[in-house]
Amino acid sequence: RSGDGGSRHGEKIFVSVRLRPLNGREIVTNDVSDWECVAENTIVYKNGNLSVPERSMYPSAYTFDRVFGCDCSTRQVYQDAAKEVVLSVVGGINASIFAYGQTSSGKTFTMTGITEYTLADIYDYVQKHPDRDFHLKFSAMEIYNESVKDLLSSDGYPLRLLDDPERGTIVENLTDESVRDWDHMMELLSICEAQRQIGETSLNETSSRSHQIIRLTIESTPSNYLGRDSASTLVSTVNFVDLAGSERASQSLTAGTRLKEGCHINRSLLTLGTVIRKLSKGRSGHIPFRDSKLTRILQSSLGGNSRTAIICTMSPARSHVEQSRNTLLFASCAK
Ligand code: ADP
Ligand code: MG
Repeated sequence: RSGDGGSRHGEKIFVSVRLRPLNGREIVTNDVSDWECVAENTIVYKNGNLSVPERSMYPSAYTFDRVFGCDCSTRQVYQDAAKEVVLSVVGGINASIFAYGQTSSGKTFTMTGITEYTLADIYDYVQKHPDRDFHLKFSAMEIYNESVKDLLSSDGYPLRLLDDPERGTIVENLTDESVRDWDHMMELLSICEAQRQIGETSLNETSSRSHQIIRLTIESTPSNYLGRDSASTLVSTVNFVDLAGSERASQSLTAGTRLKEGCHINRSLLTLGTVIRKLSKGRSGHIPFRDSKLTRILQSSLGGNSRTAIICTMSPARSHVEQSRNTLLFASCAK
């Protein structure tokens, strides 16, 4: 961790928070919005009904790299919280972007938009740089109960993780499609979406319990390049990670119910939390990447010479205040 702590998109993890609007159900039940973004980087809890002990227990203002109010578009979120991080990938730097938050807080809504905007910008970049030959590869997987599934294949069997001395952890037999053109890339995205929905109908609430990773690998060589000198080949990956609902992490910490499933889901989510906390503190000691499937798969795109952004999504509703505070606590630890 070298000393560019002042740089917004340096090695530091870029942490932002996005508030969604009240949804229909919250409106009809007369729920109210208790949170407000009061500056580019500050979100406040504005419930005046808090008792004095409650007020002293929780901070009322939280500061991050950026916060987005309920009227912000996903394009705006992309521009300010993701673009610089994910586009570093065209320069050969690995990147990951995460959506973290409780179920129904807007993770998938946010990540879907950001994935499309990023892919469009990368595609555009490739078109505008004929000086290099680019090769894009697309893959997608889901981690459910510490079991990894290919989202581009209907087989659905669990994939194994293998340790490759050169490439680090690889997912055995994961489909890695060479992208032909823009339409092909969009087709691959919709295949993952369809696979995910199949999972959702057969397993109750899968999406709130599983992590989805969409990964684009970019290889490039100078286009007038004749030799086979690997030094001029750049290879990097960008990961779009739509995490399991964060309520799963807090649930199993408190209750012993549904422990087996809770443990597994939380192993990836909790290990990610630990890894991110340690990376953000710049600790040089042991970082437990190997403790979960999610962190093993993402190891080469977290820490070291890579860029990370986390978008924490939250509901503004008073009824969700506990979960929202947990989300902000996670976000504060990642800073
Ligand atoms: P999650 O993936 O965290 O469970 P979703 O992304 O599925 O949550 O969002 C839940 C619902 O709220 C969806 O119907 C989605 O369209 C809507 N929603 C989420 N965020 C926003 C937003 N910023 N603006 C408008 N609608 C949103
Ligand atoms: Mg979702």
